[in-house]
Amino acid sequence: MRAVRFIESGRPPEIIDVAKPSPRPGEVLIKVGGAGVCHSDLHILDEGPRSLPAFTLGHENAGWIAELGDGVSGWKEGDAVAVYGPWGCGSCHACQGSAENHCEHHASLPSFGGGLGSDGGMADYMIVPSPRLLVPLGGLDPAAAAPLSDAALTPYHAIKNALPLLTPDATAVVVGVGGLGHMAVQILSALCPAQVIACDVDDSKLAHARELGATYVVNTSDGEAARAQILDIVGGRGVKVAFDFVAIQPTIKLCTSIVGRGGRISVVGMGGGTIALPVIKPYAYSIDLPYWGSRTELIEVIALAQAGRIKAEVETFPLNDALDVYQRLREGRVHGRAVLVP
Ligand code: NAD
Ligand code: ZN
Repeated sequence: MRAVRFIESGRPPEIIDVAKPSPRPGEVLIKVGGAGVCHSDLHILDEGPRSLPAFTLGHENAGWIAELGDGVSGWKEGDAVAVYGPWGCGSCHACQGSAENHCEHHASLPSFGGGLGSDGGMADYMIVPSPRLLVPLGGLDPAAAAPLSDAALTPYHAIKNALPLLTPDATAVVVGVGGLGHMAVQILSALCPAQVIACDVDDSKLAHARELGATYVVNTSDGEAARAQILDIVGGRGVKVAFDFVAIQPTIKLCTSIVGRGGRISVVGMGGGTIALPVIKPYAYSIDLPYWGSRTELIEVIALAQAGRIKAEVETFPLNDALDVYQRLREGRVHGRAVLVP
């Protein structure tokens, strides 16, 4: 079967033939229906640890059960499933609570999940090490639903963390209306009454944000002008929660300059920016550095999608186009989320 392989950081991925895997006892073989193309892959391809062994990319996956390893029951071939992405040890306190994104043993595990050290979903088939990492999709189409497992789950977790702040008189800012950000705008509309200001450097992404329910849109190409425009909208109270889905130095600077007292900056992006804060009073805002989400939150995200309250805007491509799709993502030419369909 074909697979899009991470070889080493600093090198483009390669599409090669590999053997179709067979599930060992306790494992499940998935026929991949869709593998989302996440910007995190670009960070891994560009700057990932050199020590990583080669693996198949794709950490945002959905498909159908193709084969059950010995001892796996309660599932059947053909079931449509989303693959929960952050694979923990499965038995520590965090994993038992379904928050494998917070697994206590991540540092000692060989990988962070399929497509993140273990073989992922940019292939015809993938192995999932345990059925506990599967969430039923019901009638959702796997290619359309793949982005739910990261592009939606990650902002859902960040937004849920911030919900007590997102009251009717509050304003939330979403910086970066890409794969994660376009889901964040919808999840905010679905979960809370706060008004939403969507920010991007690309006017077509801003037009998209408006269609998805953003109250205001602001082009942040000029950081100073954007700051003034946002403070004009929110007044002296400032922004209650700024979600930064880019997290390069200019967007961090923007977020710290618009957040109001008692507010929060939620840094979701991994763009390499840093936050340096003078420890002086009166300052009163918090910083959240959320990572992915829990399995129960993925169940909640899928319920939102099944109810038609959120929907990933998906552009599908064949697996053989993977290198071109990564390049499009790098150049900001993906609308919503690109999904590879083997
Ligand atoms: P994407 O490429 O689909 O979207 C990025 C968006 O940001 C694009 O619309 C782009 O136009 C916009 N943008 C770029 N520079 C900007 C700027 N200076 N100001 C405003 N907007 C700007 O990326 P994605 O897949 O949505 O991922 C976003 C980030 O989230 C990445 O850094 C990724 O690694 C990270 N991420 C974090 C987690 C986590 O658990 N914390 C999970 C998944 C992804
Ligand atoms: Zn664990």
